[in-house]
Amino acid sequence: MAIGDDDIERLRSTVSIVDVVGQFVQLRRVGRNWVGLCPFHGEKTPSFNVREETGRFHCFGCQKAGDIFTFVQEHEHVDFVGAVEALATRAGIQLNYTSAGQSRERAQRRRLVDAMDTAVEWYHRRLLEDPAARAARDYLRSRGLAGDVARQFKLGWAPDEWDGLSRGAGIAPELLRTTGLAFVNRRDRMQDALRGRVLFPIFSDNGEAVAIGGRVLPGSTDPAKYKNSPETPIYAKSKTLYGLNWAKADIAATNEVVVCEGYTDVIGFHQVGVKRAVATCGTAFTEDHVRLLKRYASRVVLAFDADAAGQGAAERFYEWEQQYQVEVSVARLAGGADPGQLAQEDPQRLAAAVADAAPFLAFRLGRVMNGRRARTPEDRVRLAERAMEVVNEHPDANVRKLYAGQVASEVGLPVNDLVRLAEQRIRRPTVTVTPVRRTAVRENAEFVAIAVLAQDWESIAEWLVEELFADETHRRAFLALGAAEGNLNVAIEQADPEAREVLARAAVADLDVDAAVEARNLIAAAVRRELRQSRSTGDPESVRDDAEARVRLEELAGPIPDAPAAEWLLGWLHRRMEQRHRGGS
Ligand SMILES: [Zn+2]
Repeated sequence: MAIGDDDIERLRSTVSIVDVVGQFVQLRRVGRNWVGLCPFHGEKTPSFNVREETGRFHCFGCQKAGDIFTFVQEHEHVDFVGAVEALATRAGIQLNYTSAGQSRERAQRRRLVDAMDTAVEWYHRRLLEDPAARAARDYLRSRGLAGDVARQFKLGWAPDEWDGLSRGAGIAPELLRTTGLAFVNRRDRMQDALRGRVLFPIFSDNGEAVAIGGRVLPGSTDPAKYKNSPETPIYAKSKTLYGLNWAKADIAATNEVVVCEGYTDVIGFHQVGVKRAVATCGTAFTEDHVRLLKRYASRVVLAFDADAAGQGAAERFYEWEQQYQVEVSVARLAGGADPGQLAQEDPQRLAAAVADAAPFLAFRLGRVMNGRRARTPEDRVRLAERAMEVVNEHPDANVRKLYAGQVASEVGLPVNDLVRLAEQRIRRPTVTVTPVRRTAVRENAEFVAIAVLAQDWESIAEWLVEELFADETHRRAFLALGAAEGNLNVAIEQADPEAREVLARAAVADLDVDAAVEARNLIAAAVRRELRQSRSTGDPESVRDDAEARVRLEELAGPIPDAPAAEWLLGWLHRRMEQRHRGGS
């Protein structure tokens, strides 16, 4: 990094994020947050939240989140160094550069890319040559990713060692850290970020190595199946698409791009001759990606279950179609098969899925209509209503009317009635709830506990253990916070993408709760869950233990906070989990 870390920390602690954002966004105090209209996506109701205490922002509409630096980077379209400089000027802080001059930025970028390139090569050689990489090679072979494929896509293997790369690749510690390849551990030593994983290097559209994605091998106990490089000066997830470097020629030639969700999906498409596939890097498909792809093609084929993203996603796609003049369609991948798998099992079907891609609206409509037999008139009306909800999401009246006619003939209702519905674009009230509200209502006890932990570590930390989190993502978010000893910024840096999203939301969650009550609720929920799953072993000791747990559970719900009960129940939970692990293995 060309700017000293001290300066960056000094800026973080002296510059108010509310001031910075407030220059561009009209903010209004709501509870503990400042709220306004998101500057990164078009919206009419504010879902952009800024929290002074944590120094972070989060948009519940487009999921953009970050700190002062990311805000300036994204808003002003500058790189990290540019953002630091702008903020320093504002705050009147003199920056200490390790090198000077105009080419500083470019030279730094070069160094980072070179370091990443060295790492990619080092990991690649390990995969090809290291005797210990046998399991990794076997795994890749079983997925059709060995030999030439591994060479073309520069696949790698990270040895299961603390500091294999840090020690062996000859990359300077400062570069290891800035690229996110390694970090300084608690013993003040460099530790590799990636261990015991097969690796998929990520390149910029110009073919420069900028990041690495890693997947655990089957049988690993590591809870994070995927782990990716953090955002760095050379790697912005929302602006990077895996595979674009290999795909761009074909994308431009065919005016079409296939968007998948996984690295192996991209490779699978290449294997069946569809060389225009790219994947998002552990994030949703966003407007930034569309903007990037629009430079190459105007047809976007989604090769993932776009419907699962729900109605919000549909509206976004239609918006993009209008704003960027692109056509969004959906590949017909039957039965939830993923492209990587299909490439091995049925290559022809995979290629055909892209050739037969349907417009997004037709695809969604198919989901509603197919497989539903409408026998009675009531059934037919209900089916038509549901279908028209989907049709009426489309902004273009002519498109709506054509689809309305199709729905009418399929369910056997008068065409004119449905076309009139389409003209007026009537939507059911249930589908117009704003995303902000939905998020607020959906917050569950686990998320609340994480939010309390993120914002006020001391108040709740002693009461939380891993076993309390039934939701896998929440559990990983909790573990990340724990590993960072409550330091939210460190946790967010180290967490996997899903957990990071939870933490980013937790950083700005506006809660007015009593930490002790939340902790008790969470413990009670976990105990109840565990008691429900009770498999009687007939062992009198464990029967007594369970009976005691029921008594303690009641004490916990009593009017007076009962610390011993909570402590006892945490111990019980732990015993039960251990039993389960022993029984399961
Ligand atoms: Zn937004």
